[in-house]
Amino acid sequence: MDILNLIINTLKNITIFSILDIIVVSIIFYEIYNLIKETRAFQLLKGILLILLLIPISDFLQLKTLHWILNKTITIGVLTIVIIFQPEIRKALEHIGRKTFTDKHIFGNEEIRNKVVTEIVNAVENLAQTRTGALIIIEQRTGLGDVIDTGTKIDAIVSSALLENIFVVNTPLHDGATIIRNNRIVASGCFLPLTTQDEVNKKLGTRHRAAIGISEVSDALVIVVSEETGIISLAINGKLIRKYDKDKLKSVLLKVITNRQDKKITLKERVMAWKKKIKTNG
Ligand code: ATP
Ligand code: MG
Repeated sequence: MDILNLIINTLKNITIFSILDIIVVSIIFYEIYNLIKETRAFQLLKGILLILLLIPISDFLQLKTLHWILNKTITIGVLTIVIIFQPEIRKALEHIGRKTFTDKHIFGNEEIRNKVVTEIVNAVENLAQTRTGALIIIEQRTGLGDVIDTGTKIDAIVSSALLENIFVVNTPLHDGATIIRNNRIVASGCFLPLTTQDEVNKKLGTRHRAAIGISEVSDALVIVVSEETGIISLAINGKLIRKYDKDKLKSVLLKVITNRQDKKITLKERVMAWKKKIKTNG
C-alpha cells in the first residue's frame, strides 16, 4: 500500500519541469554513452557499474571485507578516473564545445572547394613522389588557433607550388604542420599534440603520431606524406588511414567537406520548412 501511495504521490507531483528534467538528463546520458562507447573509458564504465551492483549485494550477504573494499574503491576511484582519463575528459569537453560552434571555417561553394582541394592533392602527390615529408591540416569546425600560434603565420592563397615549397627540407618552415583555414594557408611550422594511443603502429614516427593527435582533439582533416616511404595518409577523428593515391585522397576530402556542408544546409532547410509549415497551418 505504501508503495502504491508513493507512486501516486510522485505522479501527482510531476510537472512540465520534471518531464523536461527527464528529457535533458536522458539526452546527456545518451550523448555520454555515444562519446565513450568504443573507447577505453567504456570498459571502465562497465567496471564501475559492476562494482556499484556488487556493493549492495555484498552488504546483503554480510561480506564485510568485500563490502569495505568495494566502497573504498569507488571513493578513491572517482579521483583516479579524473586523473587517468584527463585526455578523454578533455576530448569530451572539446567535443561538446565543437557542437555549439558555427561552421565559419568550412569551405565555400563547390567551385572554390574543388579548386582548393585540387591544389592540395597535386602538392601532396608531388611531395610523395619526391619523398618529401609533409603535414597539412585542413581546419574544419574546431578552431585551431592555439596550434596556429605555435608556428609562423602566413596568409596566402592555397597553391600546390607554395605547399611544395614550404616542405622543402632545410628551409625554415618545412618542420611541423601547415594549416589551411578558410581556403587560405594561415601558418606553417606548427607544433601538434602527439596521440596518446598505445596501439599506433610501431613503425610510425612522430609525424604520424602528431597527425593522429590533432585529429583526436579536433575535426580537422590531416594529410601526412611520409619522408621515409612517400606514403600518403589521412587522419580523421583519431584514425589514420594509409596508402592514399591522389584520386582517392581528392574524393575523400571532397566527400567529407561536402557532407559537413550538406548537413548544415539540410538543418537550415529543415528549419525553413518547419517555419513554412507553421505559417500555412496558422
Ligand atoms: P616519416 O615517415 O616522414 O619519417 P615519421 O612518422 O617516421 O614520418 P619522424 O621521422 O619522426 O616521423 O618525423 C619527424 C618530423 O615530423 C619532424 O621533423 C617534424 O617535421 C614532424 N613532427 C614531429 N613531431 C611533430 C609535432 N608534434 N608537430 C608537428 N610536426 C611534428
Ligand atoms: Mg621517420
